[in-house]
Amino acid sequence: MKNITVIGAGTMGNGIAHVFAMNGYQVALADISREALDKGLATIEKNLARMVAKEKISQEEQDATLQRISTFTDMAKAVKEAHLAVEAATENVGLKLEIFRELDRHAPANAILATNTSSISITKIAAATQRPAQVIGMHFMNPVPIMKLVEVIRGYATSDATAGTVMDLSKKLSKVPVEVNDYPGFVSNRILMPMINEAIYSLFEGVAGVEEIDTVMKLGMAHPMGPLQLADFIGLDVCLSILNVLYHGFGNPKYAPCPLLVNMVAAGNLGAKSGEGFYNYRHGGRELIVADAFK
Ligand code: NAD
Repeated sequence: MKNITVIGAGTMGNGIAHVFAMNGYQVALADISREALDKGLATIEKNLARMVAKEKISQEEQDATLQRISTFTDMAKAVKEAHLAVEAATENVGLKLEIFRELDRHAPANAILATNTSSISITKIAAATQRPAQVIGMHFMNPVPIMKLVEVIRGYATSDATAGTVMDLSKKLSKVPVEVNDYPGFVSNRILMPMINEAIYSLFEGVAGVEEIDTVMKLGMAHPMGPLQLADFIGLDVCLSILNVLYHGFGNPKYAPCPLLVNMVAAGNLGAKSGEGFYNYRHGGRELIVADAFK
């Protein structure tokens, strides 16, 4: 396995390309937007430069890593010689089904097609292809160059050979892969999202304020980040869409998204990426300042 195609150069895609290229793989990074590719490459360069400054890698390693990444706006060309494609495009089921139909048409017959989806059914994505045994979830965590876990999700038809290859490959990237089955939210988001939702309900019902809720979880449960800060970091729209997958997937009201979360997303307060969520990020510093709405 030598040639890796990464579809989508956003937050996750550029991190995935970074990690593969740093470990010696040839990476074809594809996005529909040339601007997203330029931004993704600039992020990779900035993150590598930070590693050079911290003496974790040499300048030569940074240069060689960047040289192993080529960019494409044409997905068919990007996947032509792939041994593995990892899709990290926008979290939208229709879009992913379309991308997988196209990957299936243009990738070599023996290539594995993986998705980094946070919540969409691997089985459904696999069924859009003629090679469901070679389709799998390869769920990296954000930020990819730092986080150790890869949640490897077996769809209904994923073969042992495909799962074994992706588990081994994840170890070669110095990650720790954990194999799970394909049910709504897998393991990571099935446990994380109800916790975040419950934190939002605690705020909504006036049990405590933003800082108090996050402090209880940080100091009391040794979480590095409180659940409300984490929700802002993930993106409140992403949290809402994952909760809806759990709610509809299990048909159980315990997963119903908190009305406060629904309202914040409708208002465009999506967390760090929009400048405001539970905290305010417009001041530009690293200090955590509670948003005016929750003071
Ligand atoms: P993002 O919005 O930062 O990036 C998505 C990229 O996909 C954009 O650059 C967009 O131009 C590109 N894109 C859209 N349609 C495309 C197409 N047809 N072909 C090629 N590129 C296309 O999103 P993200 O946060 O990087 O999320 C990507 C995937 O990773 C999603 O499935 C998400 O659920 C998953 N994920 C996200 C996180 C996170 O913390 N952000 C964590 C784990 C998994």
